[in-house]
Amino acid sequence: MLAAVTRSPGEMVIEDVSGPGPARAGNVIVRPEAVGICGSDFHLFSGDVAALSGARDFYPRIQGHEVSAIVEDPGDAAATGDATKITRGDRVAIWPLLPCGTCYPCRTQRPNVCPRFRLVGVHLDGGLQERLEVPASTVFGVGDLDPDSTAFVEPASVAVHALARANLRPGEQVVVFGAGPIGLATTLAAAQQGARVTTVDPVPARRDLAKRLGAEHATRAPPEDPEDPEDPEDPEDLEAELKDWTDGEGPPLIVETSGETRILPQAVHLVSAAGRVVVVGMSSGTAPLRPGAFPEKEIDVLGSSCATAEDFCTAITLVKANQKSLAALYSHHFPLARAGEAFEFAMKRPPDAIKIVVTVN
Ligand SMILES: [Zn+2]
Ligand SMILES: [Zn+2]
Repeated sequence: MLAAVTRSPGEMVIEDVSGPGPARAGNVIVRPEAVGICGSDFHLFSGDVAALSGARDFYPRIQGHEVSAIVEDPGDAAATGDATKITRGDRVAIWPLLPCGTCYPCRTQRPNVCPRFRLVGVHLDGGLQERLEVPASTVFGVGDLDPDSTAFVEPASVAVHALARANLRPGEQVVVFGAGPIGLATTLAAAQQGARVTTVDPVPARRDLAKRLGAEHATRAPPEDPEDPEDPEDPEDLEAELKDWTDGEGPPLIVETSGETRILPQAVHLVSAAGRVVVVGMSSGTAPLRPGAFPEKEIDVLGSSCATAEDFCTAITLVKANQKSLAALYSHHFPLARAGEAFEFAMKRPPDAIKIVVTVN
């Protein structure tokens, strides 16, 4: 069977590999159909493993953690009760997380930040192969959801988790920074929960998508350098705009998904007193913060990472209810034989690309 193997940083080769035999105890064999490429995949692909938790052997690795697949061999899943009643032929989404079960985050029901967790597609082989063996605990039936949407359940679960962290209330005004897949999923999830959303992104096509997914407003972030002649668009005054939108108070909730380090200081400045800022976007940069803003406004700044199994189930429901409008996000498709090309393309971050999908089977 074919697999896209990341042999070493920057080197992904299509190989004929032996693949798994019958499902071993506690495991399930699936046939991946669609695999979404995610910004976090680039760390392993490009060799930036410092950004990945733990010092472990990453290469060679078959990547892919946003997976839609068909169950080929359910193994003893039904007997162990690990998987949610799956049988051969069922379409499933993979919750890629294998927590240790004993550490502090695991003991406090926050396995998504277990420092010893293993991720399918990062620490274990993932979806970029024609057959895949995964623990039954990672497999969630999705009914008749289409393959692209099923692969999108994983990024959608990240958005669901961020809003769970934020304790979003219906009717609340939320500002989402970034309209990539996670920002758009956050926009959709917040709107569906009855929130009013403003999404901030520099790319007009992404702002249009945000509106189609339920944003009340979509606006551009202030340019990094207002004097930059390369940035000719009139720099809107985001602060004035958001103040105006919230009757002078500032938004009570800001979710940062862009990963740009300059956004957090802005968000701390923009958020309402008693408000919350949730940071989802990953970055390795640093940013100066004014600590006085924390006691002055008594704000909560929260981190959010991955998703719990419960969030994953909520994400399945969210994606199912919005299958049609989400279809606009799956912008580019590559066959498995061209997976390396798909990664190279994705890493250039073309502005018209939202979610790049590798079609496997
Ligand atoms: Zn991802
Ligand atoms: Zn743990």
